[in-house]
Parts: sequence; C-alpha cells; structure tokens
Amino acid sequence: MCQREGVNLQRGMNYRLGKGYSVLLMSIRKNAPYQDEVLEDGTVLIYEGHDIPKTPNIDDPKAIDQPEKTLSGVLTQNGKFHKAAQDYAQGHRKSELVRVYEKIKPGIWSYNGLFRLIDSWVENDGKRNVFKFKLMAIEDEVNKAAHSTLQIHRRRVIPTHVKLEVWQRDKGKCVICGAEDELHFDHIIPYSKGGTSLLADNIQLLCARHNLAKRDNIE
Ligand SMILES: [Zn+2]
Repeated sequence: MCQREGVNLQRGMNYRLGKGYSVLLMSIRKNAPYQDEVLEDGTVLIYEGHDIPKTPNIDDPKAIDQPEKTLSGVLTQNGKFHKAAQDYAQGHRKSELVRVYEKIKPGIWSYNGLFRLIDSWVENDGKRNVFKFKLMAIEDEVNKAAHSTLQIHRRRVIPTHVKLEVWQRDKGKCVICGAEDELHFDHIIPYSKGGTSLLADNIQLLCARHNLAKRDNIE
C-alpha cells in the first residue's frame, strides 16, 4: 500500500510522518485490534489510540491503560496526537492534517483520504482507559492550499462494505487497464458533483494513473 508514503508502515499511528501531515492506519473489520469507527454521516472518523507495546513484563496490553508517555516521560504516539488535538481545540494551532489508510482485507489497504484532527479524549472501555481521536474527512490534496481558508469541503468516506463489494465485482483490478497495484476507489460521479459514496454502482477501482487521468479531465 504505502509506496505513496515512501516507507513501509509498521506502526498504526505515525505523527508527522511527512512534510506537514501525519498518517493513521485504521480497520473496522470485526477482528480488528482497535475500535475505530466511521460515524453515520460518513464524514467523521473516531480513531482509537494504541496499547502499550507487548514486552516480557507485560502479558496483556489490553488490560493496561493506553499510555500517553513512556516510562522515561517521552510522549507516545497517543500523546503526540492528543497534544496536537488539544492544542487545536484550545486555539493554539491549526488542525493537524492526517492521511488515513484502511485495511479492508489481509494485505489490502485503501487510502481513505485526508482528514483534520479536531478533538481527542480519554474514555473507559469497560476495562481500562483508551484514547479516542476525532477526525473530519476533507477534500484531498487538490484543495490542500485551501486548508487555511474557509473553503474546506467535507468529504464522505466510502463505507467498508461498499469497498468490499466493489473490490469483489472489479476483481481487485483497475477497470480500465487491469493493473493490480496502487488501486483507488473512484467515484464514477464525483461526490462534489452529487455522486453517492453509499452505493457500489457509483464506485469503481482505478489504478493511480487512470485515477489521476480522470481527475484531470474533470477538473
Ligand atoms: Zn488503470
């Protein structure tokens, strides 16, 4: 997947991985290790923080509060994202930009687009305290220059079940050239032009090249 990021991502949370943005890997599959959710309207993602790493001293990370700092007092990824969200909420900085990738099947990642980190909190999941991060989907890189202005448009995430349906129908290949790498879920009628994200009928698989070519023709 992450050829795009120029690194092989092992960690789910990557604060300031790139120039001016962070990267989160999410999954809402049934057996996913964390409780990430896309809320009803499809524009908001609630991302769960990550556990303390497993070591010989720690049998069950899921029984321990998710850490904000390491034992030596350095902010963990939870702590870094939390600080960024709190600083934004208190008006001390602009919102952190976050690229989100979603695991839809073993070995298959889909780019869910660009989000703004707008809030964070700690909550009890019934056993221990976990971090939660609230992110809002926004228009992608094409409009990045508009980040500081009011022209930020909300974007709707394609639901996971729709992605799986499209993946199966298009057999994991670009519908134009049959390429099997760097695939994107493309809106046939763009969301900005009223096309829906909620029906497989309006979504197709395109390789990066054909995805870009289409974008250039439309805009
Ligand atoms: Zn193609």
